[in-house]
Amino acid sequence: MDFEGQVALVTGGSRGIGRAVALKLAQEGCDIALNYRSSTAEAEQAAEQIGKLGRRVELFQGDLSDPEVPHAVVSGVRAAFGQIDVLVNNAGITRDELLVNQSLDDIRAVLDTNLVAPMLTVQAVAPAMLRRRYGRIVNLSSSAASKPGRGQSNYAAAKGGLEAFTKAMAVELASRGILVNAVAPGVINTDMTDAIRSHGEDEIMSRLLLKSYAEPETVADAVAYLASPRNTYTTGEVLHVDGGLKMA
Ligand code: NAP
Repeated sequence: MDFEGQVALVTGGSRGIGRAVALKLAQEGCDIALNYRSSTAEAEQAAEQIGKLGRRVELFQGDLSDPEVPHAVVSGVRAAFGQIDVLVNNAGITRDELLVNQSLDDIRAVLDTNLVAPMLTVQAVAPAMLRRRYGRIVNLSSSAASKPGRGQSNYAAAKGGLEAFTKAMAVELASRGILVNAVAPGVINTDMTDAIRSHGEDEIMSRLLLKSYAEPETVADAVAYLASPRNTYTTGEVLHVDGGLKMA
């Protein structure tokens, strides 16, 4: 996919989909700035895997739900690498609960991490991308944006907002060669879905046309295409990688 000479910032890259995305981009020749929140051992393990692929990798610890952090992380990446060609807004959390039982903190934490943080991170990377007239931004949405399950109102609102934001940024940034897309996974084998997969297996399987969960690497393949220089004509798109969940 020819990422040679490019630098990608992957948020939430210590585990799960973010780690798989970082590894895939590195395999395709990209140097990696890896953000994570608190799992230092796992982030270091991810960095070791990337290093073995012969790519440069640096870790940038920071809780992106703190509004000061996205700009600080981007400044750090720019100081270390000099440029950011690709931004993958992957960091995300769930706090599933029926709305009547959600605390204000449950609502704010999910919106701050899944929606406000990607907005502030794009705000931080965009000026230099605009000057260089090149950039690829991929936001990790979710099938919950269009097909929310019970207890997902905070998460669905955040991811629905993220998809609308993706389209708005595609409009604002297209004229300077910056393409902005989203990938909406269904149910992927990661820590985030442990509880859903163990308690809601029958219901989920009944809604999955392909009758299986996917591995993070399957999502990473889709992200890598949209993030690559080979993507020259797709922007403002939401690519569902969901085993047909959205059709059910
Ligand atoms: P995961 O396994 O729980 O990993 C989450 C990652 O995000 C970790 O690296 C975590 O860092 C990081 N993170 C969380 N909050 C953060 C914060 N405030 N600041 C910085 N980093 C933060 O999640 P996943 O399943 O890979 O999900 C990745 C993305 O895909 C999320 O946006 C999620 O909503 C979306 N998604 C996942 C699925 C699925 O089935 N798994 C489906 C649809 C959408 P630490 O390790 O340091 O905590």
